[in-house]
Amino acid sequence: MKNEKEIRDKVTDVAANVKETVAKTTSELYKRGKLQVELVKLQSDIRETNKKLGAICYSLEKGHTSDDGTKAELVEKLDAINDRICEIESVIEEEKERKEYEKAVREAAKYCAGCGELRVSKMTYCGHCGSKHE
Ligand SMILES: [Zn+2]
Repeated sequence: MKNEKEIRDKVTDVAANVKETVAKTTSELYKRGKLQVELVKLQSDIRETNKKLGAICYSLEKGHTSDDGTKAELVEKLDAINDRICEIESVIEEEKERKEYEKAVREAAKYCAGCGELRVSKMTYCGHCGSKHE
């Protein structure tokens, strides 16, 4: 029963594919979730650092404290936080662009490259123009 074996192999293939896709999506979601959490934390760090910086600038201006380098430290910290935020945002943006690109490729694969007509799945050649499908 060659046919039965073929069907079994096909089913195994599809199952393996689904498993792989689910695992990939889960790890992507996990990675993205972690980045979002970090982003929220960084934004609260910025608020906190700005508050401290404001207080120090006020004290310095008033002559209540002398500059011990804390101001420069806080400014440096703000820069570092902003750099990390930019990094995370670009990772998230790239991910989004990649997903959109993959979707467009999947969408394009539904149509014949030769004539643009909707493809009949499992046909090797286009029923409209005879082009061989990839
Ligand atoms: Zn065609």
